[in-house]
Amino acid sequence: MALRQLSVSDLKAVSETLEGKPPLDVLGWALEEFSPELALACSFGGPTGMVLLDMLSKLGALNGKAHVFYLETGFLFPETHALREEVEDRYGFKAAAYSSDISLEQMAEKHGPELWARDSDLCCEIRKVEPNARALVGMRAWLSGIRRDQASTRRETAIVDWDAKFNLAKVSPLVAWSEAQVWTYIVENRVPYNALHDRGYPSIGCMPCTRPVKPGEDPRAGRWAGTDKTECGLHVQPK
Ligand code: SF4
Repeated sequence: MALRQLSVSDLKAVSETLEGKPPLDVLGWALEEFSPELALACSFGGPTGMVLLDMLSKLGALNGKAHVFYLETGFLFPETHALREEVEDRYGFKAAAYSSDISLEQMAEKHGPELWARDSDLCCEIRKVEPNARALVGMRAWLSGIRRDQASTRRETAIVDWDAKFNLAKVSPLVAWSEAQVWTYIVENRVPYNALHDRGYPSIGCMPCTRPVKPGEDPRAGRWAGTDKTECGLHVQPK
């Protein structure tokens, strides 16, 4: 474990040196620098999380060197739970579940029915952002599977950056990969993936806020469809 603390400018400099390096090398650096205070938030609803999980397994990091967790929003698809159980068996680890302090019933009592349809930002804050912050307590860095080509809000993502929202470093080894590279890795390495991907769902989140997309539609068009929301808030930095 590295003993020194990296400053924000150190992280920027490291990020520049890691540009162009294979994701496995970036992960290796992150493990050396931050393990065991390194977390992976895996949604089991996107292919990039599965790639990172497989790479961590190849690096022998699923035995406590990295803290793998998921956000149990109360709205996950059965296929998402099935995938998590399948990969837990396959890789021999257990993902930690983090959920909101308030139940779905309590949320309805406090904020009214179907909050996600009226104020999705508040719903995401309650069911995702706050539990995510709790999952990251004690961590020095977290891994993210986001890619620059996923959304205009992600175009400038650095490989390593300071995450001011959660107060720790953020490492995104797959930022420069295309969707085709992700799927090539999945096929070549026989990585399990969410069954909904084969049924028209390129991006999978909570049931009320996810629909399949039509051919030619933006892959993220099925998330919060009919609204201008594109992010759940986990990867949006404070202004
Ligand atoms: S994705 Fe939808 S249901 Fe899930 S936390 Fe956000 S608003 Fe709520």
